[in-house]
Amino acid sequence: MARSGAHTTGVHLHRHEIMRDTQTDTATDDTALPQRSLSRALLFGWRRRCPKCGRGPLLRSYLKVHDRCPVCREELHHHRADDGPAYLTILIVGHIMIPLLHLAFVRWRPEPLVLFTIFAVGAVALSLYLLPRLKGIVVGFQWAREMHGFTRS
Ligand SMILES: [Zn+2]
Repeated sequence: MARSGAHTTGVHLHRHEIMRDTQTDTATDDTALPQRSLSRALLFGWRRRCPKCGRGPLLRSYLKVHDRCPVCREELHHHRADDGPAYLTILIVGHIMIPLLHLAFVRWRPEPLVLFTIFAVGAVALSLYLLPRLKGIVVGFQWAREMHGFTRS
């Protein structure tokens, strides 16, 4: 319950940041290209959407990135997410599961097989949930910062 409340607050903050970033985008001088909004790209990435339009799906299977956005035709094949999303997934899942494992063991001393089953299923489920979303975030970050081939001419 507390977690879902925190999640809602997080989304609300992102929306606030989008509004702020849109304002700064229009304030740039006309010689430079408008800056790509990082917070918008990260939010769209988390939703597994194209970092530019936020409508087209970013992924064409569980983890494969579309070469181009099916909606706005933005080139997405320039990304080099590599093992970044997996690294972030392990980092987050580890920092959630390890303290919980400690807490569950100290507080309740469950049967080893029960403890193992709950935490194995929990770790796998959380990893499968996070991995494509963190890949979206990594691709969104690279797009917003014009890394690799995402540079505009
Ligand atoms: Zn798009």
